[in-house]
Amino acid sequence: MRFKSAHLFLLLSVILHSSIATGLALALASTTANATSPASKTCTMLQAQMGSEVVQFSGAEYNASASNAWSLFNAQNKPTCIVFPQEASHVQTAMAAIFHNKIHYAVQAGGHTAMTGWNTVQDGILFFFSHMKNVSYNATSDTITLQPGIHWGEALTQLQPLGVAPLGGRLGDVGTGLLLGGGLSYLSGEHGFSADSYVALDVVLVTGQLVTATATNQYADLFRALKGGANRFGIVTRYEVQAVHTGDASEKQFFGGLILYPNSSAEALINATQRYVSKVNNPRASILMAFSNSVNGSEITSTHILTLFFRGPSLPPAIFGEFLEIPSIMKQLSALSYVDANNILGAGADRGFGQLFGASAFNGTVDQYRNAFQKWNEYTESIKDSLFGTVLAFTPIQQSQVQAGRARGSNIIDPPMGNYAAVQVQTQMQNGLLTISDQVQAARQLLFQSMPRTPGLPLYINECDASQNVFETYGRFEELKKTYAKYDPTRFNVQFTDGPIGL
Ligand SMILES: Cc1cc2nc3c(=O)[nH]c(=O)nc-3n(C[C@H](O)[C@H](O)[C@H](O)COP(=O)(O)OP(=O)(O)OC[C@H]3O[C@@H](n4cnc5c(N)ncnc54)[C@H](O)[C@@H]3O)c2cc1C
Repeated sequence: MRFKSAHLFLLLSVILHSSIATGLALALASTTANATSPASKTCTMLQAQMGSEVVQFSGAEYNASASNAWSLFNAQNKPTCIVFPQEASHVQTAMAAIFHNKIHYAVQAGGHTAMTGWNTVQDGILFFFSHMKNVSYNATSDTITLQPGIHWGEALTQLQPLGVAPLGGRLGDVGTGLLLGGGLSYLSGEHGFSADSYVALDVVLVTGQLVTATATNQYADLFRALKGGANRFGIVTRYEVQAVHTGDASEKQFFGGLILYPNSSAEALINATQRYVSKVNNPRASILMAFSNSVNGSEITSTHILTLFFRGPSLPPAIFGEFLEIPSIMKQLSALSYVDANNILGAGADRGFGQLFGASAFNGTVDQYRNAFQKWNEYTESIKDSLFGTVLAFTPIQQSQVQAGRARGSNIIDPPMGNYAAVQVQTQMQNGLLTISDQVQAARQLLFQSMPRTPGLPLYINECDASQNVFETYGRFEELKKTYAKYDPTRFNVQFTDGPIGL
């Protein structure tokens, strides 16, 4: 099931970071590769070893991949070459050379990071996983094996006939990089962060060595670090995860959908969101509350959207009643399969806008939420000339989610016991705009300062700003640092690939 109205589709595209595709990015990118640079020499050597399908300097596939990133800011870079691995050994070979020759590099899976520089590289080597997209289910071990290039929508659709699903995200075009940052899905309350479902990971370390990490083997520390440590610990070439039995297309195990609200309902929604976050601890319940400001010329239109699901035959009033009673513009609620639920907001696949995220985390009184709402509105107003729109989104993290993660050996984020909300600010720049002005940067920093996290709560790295030190907010930060020092003792990754700060 997917919402069809043109108006709403426009709104959803603001909320869900989508856009009309421009496809112009690469044409603008620099084309001045220096044939004698260390990166160029390394690419030439790798192409001689692995062939011109695996290592590409130009051409249609190179162009499409170099400009694939969801954020237009990332679609501008032109790697010296792109490595299209077909198997883990290709990653090993390339990584060993990158390490030896000290080459800047980046990895792209689904392409959806909003952090500039985290999934593309100028004058360096890009790993692009479009030739490693297999997904399979093993009924004996009840596990799913994912190659890094698959997107969640593809994985869910292929596995639906078998009645199983991996824990991923909530939009189909997003990819497996989500796992390395944690991962929030409509099943999180029951099963934890998506990364909590890991069973085994194949990881190519900075040196090119391939290891398999599990919860109990000699790489157990690496295994846990990859549940939130993002791209700092190596390149994952295979994820084996626990299957969740979500049913096939005919089994509508979920009830819910989306509700669209006018801005006049904003205050009631803020109150309801705070109450939901602080009170609801039912593993089968899930919401995503997104407040949206859409800019058209100098006019800002505010419309708010709630997605809500319960794994059961109806929405229990004790959990969702307050949201259901708030005056709305439109309600679309029904029994749904898990794939239906994941399609409700569209795929989020379109491109063409520079994107910026920022994170906070709340478990306070309603004043904390009201303040954020007010500051976010002021922020939008102050930089509206540069914007297509902004979103302030709340994902409740229930205590049951934290418990589920601990029951599976704990992730490195390790939030304290209790409920809280992961808070995300999305800034979508005007279509085609390639620069971020000082005014926008200053406004963003002011916003982050004025809606600080509740002390003790972790930020969500997949929704942060690149300047936010997310790692130091983790419950197991000391362990993370120790593990990083063990697996990357020369600190290669923090110097040669962009990613989270703080290690
Ligand atoms: C439209 C949209 C919807 C979203 N919805 C959700 C949601 O429902 N739940 C949620 O939790 N998050 C969501 N996110 C955030 C999402 O988790 C992050 O953007 C995530 O980084 C996307 O992963 P990716 O593979 O698509 O992106 P990529 O940009 O390809 O990868 C993200 C990061 O991981 C690194 N990486 C990727 N693969 C590997 C690998 N195999 N080995 C080492 N490093 C790797 C990349 O270098 C990059 O730094 C959403 C984002 C967008 C834009």
